[in-house]
Amino acid sequence: MTQAAMRLGITGGIGSGKSTVCALLADKGIPVIDADAISRACTAPGGAALPAIAQAFGDAVFEAPGILNRDAMRALVFDQPQARAQLQALLHPMIAVEIERQASQAALASPPCIAFDIPLLVESKRWRTVLDRVLVVDCQAQTQIDRVMQRSGLTAESVQKIMAAQSTRAARLQCADYVLFNESVTIDEIGQQLAAIFPFLEISSRHWKNSA
Ligand code: ATP
Repeated sequence: MTQAAMRLGITGGIGSGKSTVCALLADKGIPVIDADAISRACTAPGGAALPAIAQAFGDAVFEAPGILNRDAMRALVFDQPQARAQLQALLHPMIAVEIERQASQAALASPPCIAFDIPLLVESKRWRTVLDRVLVVDCQAQTQIDRVMQRSGLTAESVQKIMAAQSTRAARLQCADYVLFNESVTIDEIGQQLAAIFPFLEISSRHWKNSA
């Protein structure tokens, strides 16, 4: 009988390196379920969340019928915590259903672990109850700012505003079973840190796929 996959949540502040860590896990054959991608799909043209968003926030957050104005939506939720809570209450159940659908699909290959890339894991308490372990990708606030500015062209103030709307670094670290400190390390070194935390990464994906 094969053992159930460990459900590993990956989280971290903006620009901490979650995607980088997830790409390394995926390279090792670990299925990665991307909550952000699912969230974007829910709010893309024709997305499942659009009718409820229109009902809750009205035309002001739409470019055209069925096409969300992401800048307007983002501005609204950053400026109004109540609107942010309302949007989250609306999106999270939909995202959760799709995450579980993808997880069931991934489990068919009997991997030792399924990774869940969930940026707002700490903010949304329910995640903790459906995950076995949480890996927090951590770095200094200034490094987050530098990386995001370099990647997106946002100003330091804009990045700080996003960071202020996320959990604090201390709150994230409190939720961690494992911490990967992604500061002044190369991608290879991150891979080594992951292999030290998760010895099963040394086993090739072919092994567990064959033993399914
Ligand atoms: P977001 O929350 O915005 O999705 P993230 O936490 O997924 O970000 P990444 O996209 O992995 O973070 O990393 C942010 C940027 O920093 C990327 O351009 C990535 O290539 C770079 N980066 C991450 N880790 C390192 C590192 N150790 N050395 C150099 N660059 C890095």
